Amino acid sequence: MAKPGKPVNFLFLLSFLLTILLFTGVAFAKADALGASVAPATPTTAAAAPAFDIQAAVDTYLAKMPPAERARSDAYFEGGYWLILWDFLAAALVMWLLLHFRWSARMRNLAERVTRFRPLQTALYWVQFFIVASVLTFPLGVYEGYFREHKYGLLNQTFGPWMRDQTVGLTVGLVLGAILMVPLFGLVRRLGKNWWVWGAVVMIMFAAFVILIAPVYIAPLFNTYRPLQDSRITDPILSMARANGIPASNVYEFDASRQSNRVSANVSGFAGTERISLNDNLLKRCTLPEIETTMGHEMGHYVLNHGYKGLVMNGVLIVIGFAFLNWGIHFGLARWGGKWDIRGITDVAVLPLAAIVFTLYFFLLTPVTNTISRTMEYEADMYGLNTAQQPDGEANVDLMLGEYRKMDPGPIEEFIFFDHPSGRTRITAAMRWKAEHPQSASPDEMARPVFNAK
Ligand SMILES: [Zn+2]
Repeated sequence: MAKPGKPVNFLFLLSFLLTILLFTGVAFAKADALGASVAPATPTTAAAAPAFDIQAAVDTYLAKMPPAERARSDAYFEGGYWLILWDFLAAALVMWLLLHFRWSARMRNLAERVTRFRPLQTALYWVQFFIVASVLTFPLGVYEGYFREHKYGLLNQTFGPWMRDQTVGLTVGLVLGAILMVPLFGLVRRLGKNWWVWGAVVMIMFAAFVILIAPVYIAPLFNTYRPLQDSRITDPILSMARANGIPASNVYEFDASRQSNRVSANVSGFAGTERISLNDNLLKRCTLPEIETTMGHEMGHYVLNHGYKGLVMNGVLIVIGFAFLNWGIHFGLARWGGKWDIRGITDVAVLPLAAIVFTLYFFLLTPVTNTISRTMEYEADMYGLNTAQQPDGEANVDLMLGEYRKMDPGPIEEFIFFDHPSGRTRITAAMRWKAEHPQSASPDEMARPVFNAK
């Protein structure tokens, strides 16, 4: 899913949802071919030609990135590792404040004074909880999403429009969160002990619901989407789409330049709302082969049903997560429930405790969720290379993605922190593919100075 600038960062419960959306909508990746290419390559008679040196080609591409640019990108991305920790700690601290000073209990009391209707009490509690939590985590959110992005030259927005996007995100979170919390607490009250099994089911259904409505009702709140127009670009792309069995009307462009210069594309939607969207930066900054390889990647997500597969894989994590959540809540309540003035697991005032446990769970699972995503991204890379057959265009796009993703990490670093393959992994895959398809070589693309474009 396309992130509006940076994900609205004060919504930790919702940030988990965004994580799910990321798997379904993921910006792009790169791969390498083990299988046959889609179009049979003309039999090469160039047996006499010198063997293509994959490693040398990869190094040539990596060298196109100026050292200063590389240093900036590395600093930005590595700083992001720490932000995973700080985000978790900040969320946990805020939740602890809500419990320790019994603010959570007071919000519940207020909700109970306003109405006797339980579902409405839950919703009223949620509104207070969400606003207070958002305000308290706002300073970190502004640093992370605004000042830090500007510092690295990755945000085009001034504070006003940025704040407008945050407010819209907050409102969406408020509404969606209420839609989730009301049935969830209803289940806890009715089912008692086994609530967590059905709770996980509700959570998965909710995630599917959000993914379903996101392209139609949420994404347009941040950007303008319209069907791709320019026929020089649409003709080859729509041809590719038809060849891959994708309804042509599902290819859109959107004005991501409103937020940043990042090139990106995504597949979003579910059960009929699926669409492939390219951002305007990609259209402005990239050559046709680069756009084609990116679209091939996105079509890979679509054809390989990554949205559904992501939902299933993350669904497993959610079920285990709810078991952990159930245990964690009982553990916390047994020790501190009285002190926090929480009556039990059916009491909405327990929400900050639940948030701590659930956030901890997904914090610890960072390498797992990243690997689920990264693996699908690699598959989409493979698909894109085989479909578009533009390994040099692919390598150039991989370089552009290096503006905000470290190009050349160590293998463990990539395993833990990368939700997409690194630039080196992707360019290596592209060059490996090229080595087996020498007719696909594109000298123009190879010589193109990607980093002067900015
Ligand atoms: Zn992707």
